[in-house]
Amino acid sequence: MIDFEPVYSHRSTVYNLLGFEPGKVDGAYLKALGVGVEPSEETLEALRRGSEVFERRFREHLLIPRQRFCLEDIAPASVTPVIHNYTGRCPTLTYEINPVKGCTVGCQYCLVSDGVHEQELMAYDNYHLYVRRLLEEHNGPGSDNARHYYYFSPKTEAFQEATLYTGIAHRILREFIEHFRRCPHSNARLFIASKAGAKHLQIADGGETVLDLFARLKGRMQFNTSVSIMPDAFRDILEPYAAPLSERLEAVRLCSEKGVAADSALVQPIITPWLTREHIESFFGALRGVGIINYKPEFLTACVENLSMLGQYLGWFDKGLERQLYEDYLMPSNESHRKQRARIAPDKARSRAYLKAMMECTDHLGMSVSICYWVRKQLGIEESQIPFINRNGFQCLGYQSKLFGDV
Ligand code: SF4
Repeated sequence: MIDFEPVYSHRSTVYNLLGFEPGKVDGAYLKALGVGVEPSEETLEALRRGSEVFERRFREHLLIPRQRFCLEDIAPASVTPVIHNYTGRCPTLTYEINPVKGCTVGCQYCLVSDGVHEQELMAYDNYHLYVRRLLEEHNGPGSDNARHYYYFSPKTEAFQEATLYTGIAHRILREFIEHFRRCPHSNARLFIASKAGAKHLQIADGGETVLDLFARLKGRMQFNTSVSIMPDAFRDILEPYAAPLSERLEAVRLCSEKGVAADSALVQPIITPWLTREHIESFFGALRGVGIINYKPEFLTACVENLSMLGQYLGWFDKGLERQLYEDYLMPSNESHRKQRARIAPDKARSRAYLKAMMECTDHLGMSVSICYWVRKQLGIEESQIPFINRNGFQCLGYQSKLFGDV
C-alpha cells in the first residue's frame, strides 16, 4: 500500500463543516424545507435509505477516499477492451483507457461510483502495455486503421497521484508517442477529459512532465478540462482532492501555450439551482478567457439515494438552493428521466430552460455547444438547434472532428 500527499486539498472537508450533521431526508423534512413537489413513496423511501447510508459513512469517516493505493500488474493480453458508447449511438468507436480502479479525487457525485469511495484503490503499473496492444490491434500496421479516439479516462481521473507519482500516466502518453513515430498515418487520436490542475501537468517522470509529453502529441490529441458549475466553496466539498477551478483553467492555458488543443470543456456536473444569469456569465466568461470555444454541458445526475446527501451538503451552504435542487429532480413526472444505473436527471422542461439560458450567454461569447445523443433524445433537441458536428468541429463529449485533418 502506498500512502501519498495529495497535490491539491481544501480547507473545508465534509467532516469539518461548521455545525453540519447529516439528517434524515423524508417527507417531513421536504415539507419543512418548503419543497413544492410531492415525490412518490418509492422516491421518499430511496431518500430515507440514502440519508441512513450517508449518516453511517459520515460517522465512520468513509465519505472521501483515503490517500493511498495498491500497485499491481495486469496481463495485457487478457484485458477485454472497453468501448466507450453508453448511448449506443456514439459517432466513432472510442476505446477506454482506465489505468486505475477507483479514483483518489473522491467526487461526492461521481458518475462511476455514485459517490461511494470506500474501496481500496488499485493502480496498474504496466497498463501502458495494454495501451500498446490496443493501438497495435486497431491502428497499427496490418489493422484497418479506422478512426478511433482513445479516451483517457472515463472511469477514473487520468492525472491523479496514483498515475503521476508512479509514472503510469507518462508511460501511457509515451505509448502514443511511439505509436505515432512508427505509424505516422495512424488514425488514432487521444481524447483526454480531466480535472487536472496546472501542478498535476508539471509532475515529471524520467525528466519529462506530462505537459512535455502533451507537446509531443500535439495535433493528435485534445485536452478537455472538466469543470463543474457550482459555488466554489461547495465545489471544495464535493470534489475533495480536485484542483480548484482557477488551477484547471491554468492547465488549459499551459496546454494552449504548447500548441495542444485544449479549447473544449466538459462542463459537469451543473448544479441547476446555481444557474442564475450572473453565475452563468461569470463562469463562461472565465472559460472564454482562457480560450475555450466549445463546451459539453451535463446537468448533475444522481441516484435518489445520493441526491439526499448532495442536497444536505447544498443545504449547509444555502437552504434555498437545497429546496430548489429537490424541486428540479423529484417531481413524480420526472421519475423515468434516468441515465445509466438509475441516475436521475433534472426535470426535462427545466433542463431545456437552463440549457437555453446558458446558450444565450455562450452564443454571445462566440462559444459552441456539443451534446451527447442521450441528452439530445431526452430533451428533444433538434439538429437545427445543436448540430451533430457544430461550427467549430466538435461533437458529443467534445470530440474534435478536425483532429482527423480533413473535415
Ligand atoms: S474525478 Fe471523475 S472518476 Fe474521479 S471521483 Fe471525480 S467524477 Fe469520479
